[in-house]
Amino acid sequence: MQVMTTCILNNIFSYVVDGMQKGKRIYCALGYKCNNNCLICAVDSATKQDKNISTQEICNFLDNFSGKHEIEFEISGGEATLRSDFLYIMDYIRKNNPKSPCILLSNGRRFSDTNFTSHLSEIMPQSTIIAIHGNNSNMHDAQTQIKGSFIETISGVSNLFDFGFNVDLKAIVTKLNYKKLPEIIQFAAQTFPDLKYMSINGLDVQGAAETNKNRVFIPMSSQKNYIQKAIDMALNYDIAIRTYSFPFCLFDEDYRKFVGFQPQDNVTCKSPFVEKENLLPNYGPVEKCSFCKYVSVCGGTWHSYYSAYGVDELSPVLGADKK
Ligand code: SF4
Repeated sequence: MQVMTTCILNNIFSYVVDGMQKGKRIYCALGYKCNNNCLICAVDSATKQDKNISTQEICNFLDNFSGKHEIEFEISGGEATLRSDFLYIMDYIRKNNPKSPCILLSNGRRFSDTNFTSHLSEIMPQSTIIAIHGNNSNMHDAQTQIKGSFIETISGVSNLFDFGFNVDLKAIVTKLNYKKLPEIIQFAAQTFPDLKYMSINGLDVQGAAETNKNRVFIPMSSQKNYIQKAIDMALNYDIAIRTYSFPFCLFDEDYRKFVGFQPQDNVTCKSPFVEKENLLPNYGPVEKCSFCKYVSVCGGTWHSYYSAYGVDELSPVLGADKK
């Protein structure tokens, strides 16, 4: 149960909506089957096998929100696009909620199939969030553990842009890529001239990420300078960039405005394991933050990080003013 919850939150807090929550959010993990085997996945590979929700169960869940206003849908997995009923489900959401934003979280590989991308474009979700783990095949594929995944993801993102989708690229910082974050931003900007949004995300030390932590973990304080350089790079290319799951106090003051935070109240979650309202946070400020002026607005990072590596890197900022 804990693993599932973490996976949900990892996705929820990774997409860019200018740091603001817009109405009720409906998060649905359609299943945990995936064609990647990421070292950093918050779900362990044994758990995610064959954990799909039936089409009927998904539709029954979605029916709760038909015609309601001020909601947005987030569809995720695993890799949701692998389902044979994926296009049907997306169409079901669109027809029943024509005005509601729908955001798809994906590894992007399936969109290397132009026909598939074309079919989805006829339904057109509001936005896609695609994970990118490196600026070349070696770096990306080493983390997905699937040879050829980088080529397919890049091809998929290219197709998504060609068919008019909004694409937000999401980089998760690991020991394998942190020194190359600026180059990842540069590669993405130069490869996709229409790219407007990217995010840099902290690692949740759960599931496969916990199993592989010696290979993927790097302390936040070691990441800081590279993240700040990556932000500078994004700004050079007019890309709106946010960091998620990093505390304000990690960064120099000029970079704190790029720290994104999404409250998790007003979220309904559905996954193969659970259907739940308003999950309890497993990230955010800890006791050491009590006197920090940012405590009410800071997302901090995953509690799994603090459990594994402590809170020594936090530097509470004293002062009366809230950001
Ligand atoms: S001390 Fe805590 S509340 Fe303050 S910026 Fe750091 S993580 Fe956020």
